[in-house]
Amino acid sequence: MASFTLHGIPVSRGISIGRAHLLTPAALDVKHYLVPEEQVEAEVKRLQDAFAAVHRNLQELWTELPKDAPTELGAFIDVHVLILSDPMISEAPLDIIRSRHYNAEWALVTQIDELSAQFDEIEDEYLRERKQDIQQVAERVLKVLMGTALAAPPVLKAGEDEFQPQMIVVAHDISPADMLAFRDRSFVGFVTDVGGQNSHTAIVARSLDIPAAVGMSQASRLIEQDDWVIVDGDAGVVICNPSALVLEQYRARQAALIKARKRLLKLKKTPAITKDGTPVTLLANIELPDDCAPALDAGAAGVGLFRSEFLFMGRGAHALRVPGEDEQFEQYRKAVLAMKGRPVTIRTLDVGADKPLDPSEHTALNPALGLRAIRYCLAEPQLFLTQLRAILRASSFGKVRILIPMLAHAFEIDQSLGMIAQAKQQLREQNIKFDEQIEVGAMIEIPAAALALPMFVKRMDFLSIGTNDLIQYTLAIDRVDYEVAHLYNPLHPAVLHLIAMTIDAGRKAGIDVAVCGEMAGDIKLTRLLLGMGLREFSMHPAQLLAVKQEILSSDLAVLGPRTRRILRTMEPAAIAEAVEQLQTL
Ligand code: PEP
Ligand code: MG
Repeated sequence: MASFTLHGIPVSRGISIGRAHLLTPAALDVKHYLVPEEQVEAEVKRLQDAFAAVHRNLQELWTELPKDAPTELGAFIDVHVLILSDPMISEAPLDIIRSRHYNAEWALVTQIDELSAQFDEIEDEYLRERKQDIQQVAERVLKVLMGTALAAPPVLKAGEDEFQPQMIVVAHDISPADMLAFRDRSFVGFVTDVGGQNSHTAIVARSLDIPAAVGMSQASRLIEQDDWVIVDGDAGVVICNPSALVLEQYRARQAALIKARKRLLKLKKTPAITKDGTPVTLLANIELPDDCAPALDAGAAGVGLFRSEFLFMGRGAHALRVPGEDEQFEQYRKAVLAMKGRPVTIRTLDVGADKPLDPSEHTALNPALGLRAIRYCLAEPQLFLTQLRAILRASSFGKVRILIPMLAHAFEIDQSLGMIAQAKQQLREQNIKFDEQIEVGAMIEIPAAALALPMFVKRMDFLSIGTNDLIQYTLAIDRVDYEVAHLYNPLHPAVLHLIAMTIDAGRKAGIDVAVCGEMAGDIKLTRLLLGMGLREFSMHPAQLLAVKQEILSSDLAVLGPRTRRILRTMEPAAIAEAVEQLQTL
């Protein structure tokens, strides 16, 4: 097999080596997980039972056909029965379950996709159109399967499934919600054709701490099922069918990385203090309450960003579209209790752009500039009030802070604060306890906000800089679009100035300023941010200890003047070089 290398965008660090598992868009629409060896035959039976149920159902339809029904109707049922009995439909997916351990839905969709591709190549139009019949039959079977779906797919720990080498997902695209569904599965790497470094899919891959590379353009076409693949998440390189020598080199690098990570674990309880004795707060970004465990394992002082929208996404067609107040409250409380008294900063719903509430309703002309985050919440006051009440209720179980995303206008701040006051009043009237002094902060992630800081500092208790969006909106590039990914530069002087201005304004006003965008977890930028005066960093737990190591060896007396010099520079190459030098100090 020919070896080839693809270059894309690195999004999640580390190296993984495994077999390619191609996921088609259709496969992403159904649950996809691996079935442990001992459950394979039960899964085969689940699919056989579903086939039998559809068969019975079609026969019933036949017998119930009115006498005067058009003949086409009976013929159509016949065709579906025939399709269902064809071994390509009724046998091949069973083999896929047995050989690849796919769950029944995934096995069926994989086979149907393969067949559909073959049908597309048929010249005869009549035959080509039979593809639709096959898909309709598959949908009938899927419907039955959904009814027998396992409540929680089995969890395979990496390496536990000896039957399979570790698997690398290769797909054209993966939505953030789908990526989240990969948590706890035995996938060890991700490769997608599209996507940018700070798309939410990439961010979730980082939070899962799994090597990933995106923007690979043709990967899902060039890589074949079960090909051996190396994902170099540091370089954004994917090597398909590597030679034995290359494989050996990567295995050695992988082993060294694992060792280095283990060494970092020793820093868990070490306080994050610079060499000159300045304490720094290291917080965790989380997507779901379960992420609190890795946050605590990494020694996080609290949660600096709980992306609450992940509770609202990927709920499937059968779930109610948005979680109600009690369900949200339970989730927020779970995070608060898990953090054992450490602060939990819950960001209010930031849907829109690459995190649509309902992907099928994705119609905005320019979603990144559209009805996103606080704009959406203010347009849906009942939904916003529900979330605010749920957050406030959780605040009686530990320290909670509210963080509002995408603010740009004074009236948006005032309306948000007004809604919080209203939610508090509703709770008071119901005698429900909450923290009356709850702090409310603003994400600074639109350049307009960073240029109008007095508007924010006088109204808000704290600020958190969302560098992912701040870069996107300052440089006018879509963070999801790999074609402009090369323009996504955190070190652009305009970006650095907006960040420095925000940190300064917070210090002068005496309010806390954090960075919760991906820059906070990039060790190449830790010293620059420290030099700018940043004392609060919020990042994925997986990055926290490496950032702490940087902090422990940083001297603010040296970094301050150097950083001021960098901020006076307008030449990107000089900035990049000076920032690199900070790491050698
Ligand atoms: C950001 O924009 O930097 C941020 C932290 O929020 P998100 O990535 O969820 O948009
Ligand atoms: Mg943002």
